[in-house]
Amino acid sequence: MRGKLAVIEKLIKAEAIINLVTVLGLYDEFDAEVTCPSCKLEVMVGFQTKALFNLLLYFEVGDKVDTERFIVKDGIIKDALGSCPKCQAFLLGEIIIKDNVFQGVQNIRIEQEVSPVPSDKIKESVSSYLKQKGEAYPSDIADALGISLKEVLAVISILKEEKKVAEA
Ligand SMILES: [Zn+2]
Repeated sequence: MRGKLAVIEKLIKAEAIINLVTVLGLYDEFDAEVTCPSCKLEVMVGFQTKALFNLLLYFEVGDKVDTERFIVKDGIIKDALGSCPKCQAFLLGEIIIKDNVFQGVQNIRIEQEVSPVPSDKIKESVSSYLKQKGEAYPSDIADALGISLKEVLAVISILKEEKKVAEA
């Protein structure tokens, strides 16, 4: 787990913060290398889930899924959502936890759902973030702005249509 957790652990002392975080629609993320079913490339995908505490916890394969607030011994978190960094397809997968340890993501499939229509405010903030950074991974934009990956990707596809960002 990266530095985010240390910051968050200070915050979770206050129950009110947890409620706030939940209201803001945050999530926890599990990163794994998978074969994208859309473009068939090996890609590193951050799969996001709201099934845990939505504290922006971040796990890599091999990490213990264990915090002050919860321990996951064995389990499968279904329908975690990610997106392929190469072809931008929305992907769903099952997060596998065994003996406390994040093992990987299985049963990767393409999500067929239609993208949400982002609000002008979200469009504006993603657009100015991209202007500022030049380029960024959609998951980093989602993290930085505290919005869902789906919203970020929806905005990016709109901006592409409007030719405000270059094709990947
Ligand atoms: Zn792909």
